[in-house]
Amino acid sequence: MKRILITGGAGFLGSHLCDRFIKEGYHVIAMDNLITGDLKNIEHLFKLEHFEFYHHDVSKFIHVPGELDYILHFASPASPIDYLKIPIQTLKVGSLGIHNCLGLARVKNARVLIASTSEVYGDPTVHPQPEEYWGNVNPVGPRGVYDEAKRFQEAMTMAYHTYHGLETRIVRIFNTYGPRMRLNDGRVLPAFIGQALRGEDLTMFGDGSQTRAFCFVDDLVEGIYRLLLSDYPHPVNIGNPDEITIKEFGEEIIKLTGTSQKLISLPLPTDDPKQRKPDITKAKSILGWEPKVSRAEGLKITYEYFKSLSPEDLHRMAH
Ligand code: NAD
Ligand code: UDP
Repeated sequence: MKRILITGGAGFLGSHLCDRFIKEGYHVIAMDNLITGDLKNIEHLFKLEHFEFYHHDVSKFIHVPGELDYILHFASPASPIDYLKIPIQTLKVGSLGIHNCLGLARVKNARVLIASTSEVYGDPTVHPQPEEYWGNVNPVGPRGVYDEAKRFQEAMTMAYHTYHGLETRIVRIFNTYGPRMRLNDGRVLPAFIGQALRGEDLTMFGDGSQTRAFCFVDDLVEGIYRLLLSDYPHPVNIGNPDEITIKEFGEEIIKLTGTSQKLISLPLPTDDPKQRKPDITKAKSILGWEPKVSRAEGLKITYEYFKSLSPEDLHRMAH
């Protein structure tokens, strides 16, 4: 039985990865310090013989007994609201955290896959973004703590690959959504759906002309699974290229939820990227991957999830 360590395993993406690797017959060890995650995301796995949970900060030395075949490094605050609140921890988990994971991987002779991000492209001047684009990041702007941590993480991972011959994979994840996002994590989808559910106006930042392209979580997990098992060590974009303006996205959420509230405009945050859309040519050719779930389908599933939460959960996740 293959053994896999998933850091950030109690988070949105990490918990879906735990589910997938359990389903594939792996022994899954989730590690998380719960700074932005939630045990509720993985509590259904606690009863399983082949699932373990370690409450641990991966920026500190990591000890895992026994063998490991794979390490997925997903621990990191991911939403702007989170990483602006905890900037130092964000920088630490992207630097000390990945150093610990790579060191552990050498000892265990494990393959490492790291969660990088479209944010390595910053506010891109090339559109759509191919992996060859080096990016346009402001290192000392508010988003720099996240973007530069992720860029360092890629550099460190590539150095371990080049100098130590470690098997490594790098996924550049574009905006992903789905069940288990936190209603209060500040990202646009939970923000809009939460506002619609509470009968509040939807807070669009700026004039809403900035674009994003949203990928449903199941599609992302499939792409990550294929990348891990591939032999490709260079970065691969995984995302859904179906681009939309934030204004149009807000209008879709208004239609989906049937809310009688409207879109209101608030100031655009500093360095908010104006446009973003993945070039997925590499994922298609190397992994034979492309997204299967349309935004209409994915949004419906995600809305049903938020509607199914108990009032206690809704309250807990809104504050
Ligand atoms: P999330 O906040 O739901 O999950 C992150 C998890 O990491 C949380 O459970 C948190 O408690 C844990 N964590 C943070 N710091 C830690 C530390 N020092 N030690 C142990 N655990 C720690 O966010 P997510 O959306 O699931 O993102 C997961 C990963 O994917 C992140 O690395 C993020 O940068 C990356 N990513 C996500 C997206 C997206 O659209 N969701 C896009 C690009 C990249
Ligand atoms: N956004 C918005 N209203 C909100 C939250 C976000 O208009 O309540 C905008 C934000 O300014 C950005 C886009 O939606 O242009 C996506 O933001 P998110 O935080 O989800 O992801 P990221 O900016 O990291 O892509």
